[in-house]
Amino acid sequence: MSKILHRSIHAELPVAVGGRGIELFDADGKAYIDASCGAAVSCLGHGHPEVLAALHAQLDKLAYAHTGFFTTEIAERLADRLIADSPDGIDYVYLVTGGSQAMEAALKMARQYFVEKGEIARRHIIARRQSYHGNTLGVLAAGGNEWRRAQFRPLLIETHHIAPCYAYRGRSAGESEYGYGERVANELEAKILELGPGEVIAFVAETVVGATAGAVPAVAGYFKRIREICDRFGVLLILDEVMCGMGRTGTLHAYEQEGIVPDLVAIAKGLGGGYQPVGAVLMGRHIYDAFATGSGFFQHGHTYMGHPLAAAAALAVQDVIREQGLLENVVKLGELLNCRLRERFHKHYHVGDIRGRGLFRGIEIVADRGEKSPFAPARKVHAAVKREAMARGLMVYPMGGTIDGVQGDHILLAPPFIVSAGQIDNIVERLGDAVDAAIAPGVA
Ligand code: PMP
Repeated sequence: MSKILHRSIHAELPVAVGGRGIELFDADGKAYIDASCGAAVSCLGHGHPEVLAALHAQLDKLAYAHTGFFTTEIAERLADRLIADSPDGIDYVYLVTGGSQAMEAALKMARQYFVEKGEIARRHIIARRQSYHGNTLGVLAAGGNEWRRAQFRPLLIETHHIAPCYAYRGRSAGESEYGYGERVANELEAKILELGPGEVIAFVAETVVGATAGAVPAVAGYFKRIREICDRFGVLLILDEVMCGMGRTGTLHAYEQEGIVPDLVAIAKGLGGGYQPVGAVLMGRHIYDAFATGSGFFQHGHTYMGHPLAAAAALAVQDVIREQGLLENVVKLGELLNCRLRERFHKHYHVGDIRGRGLFRGIEIVADRGEKSPFAPARKVHAAVKREAMARGLMVYPMGGTIDGVQGDHILLAPPFIVSAGQIDNIVERLGDAVDAAIAPGVA
């Protein structure tokens, strides 16, 4: 019997014993295609020799040095690389060990930024109802996922939520995509005015929504409008690219495709590709300067931040992606994945939406595609698809829960950047079989 408090205590988990390329192996010798990179993490797949070599080399040099005493060459090189590879507007880096830590740090950084500037009345965080920004209390409060928040509500700080940009469900009949984007973005303006323009710290959003609904990009123009509103009221724009960032959608940062620059952006999963726990906050010069010319001290910190092994893993992963031109693969194979998903599910009675960017794709499963009616939550269709997929040696990431009162069953695909065309075919074929096995066609 396992002595670990697993996520789901009664679920019987296979024991992972190895991994090579896009596959993981369990103790019985069964192979699983990692078509979701766990939760969009393992962007270079498993056992990548160059990353392993970089980790061994760093371990031989130095495993750990507390950031209160030292910086390290490897952490500095990682920061330089991240800044050099980012478009203008990213000038400094704060290194942590994961997504929740990155988002927590971003929220505190945003508040202290205004304290440094003497705008101490700013205290509100606005986010969206369709959102997940991590599981620690501060970011759980920012997130809008009711299922994750409900029992902890008495412990959560007060935050505010506006509509998501979720065209499949939110766009009214006859409304243009652009008009829809503008309408939901304008909710931010209304919320800022309601709370008091000088009292809002930041607006927080995932650039392409991953963790609450598989791979939902905003409609064109939405983020430009959001940026305009933030600028007008001096509100910081914090983008959560923990899942959708670091090349996953075909550009290093997903926001590059929106034609905007955030004030702060959180990255994690694909940064270190799972070879070490690592995350970061990237920030513009104005944020850093507020600290540099103010107290000179960001009142935050963690024991393992800037960890040399994590920095070595992240730098090696980012080097491989760049040297092997893997972002091009993300774009090319992402298009192929999109095509194959459309071929397989375009007319499927139970697939209401197929969406995403790059190698970040999602399908939404519904009881009736014409009506867009969801399955009853109790059926847990998303979990059934995962189970059937695992039985067929395929890992896909399932998501359920309600958004604005409507049940969603979403399946996220996020294969490694090294995936081949043949492997994409295999993934979609197995997924199709898993979906059909999980839901008898035509039966709601
Ligand atoms: N933000 C987003 C968008 C995420 O997808 C996740 C993880 N699923 C997090 C934050 C939290 O990251 P972590 O699990 O590394 O704390």
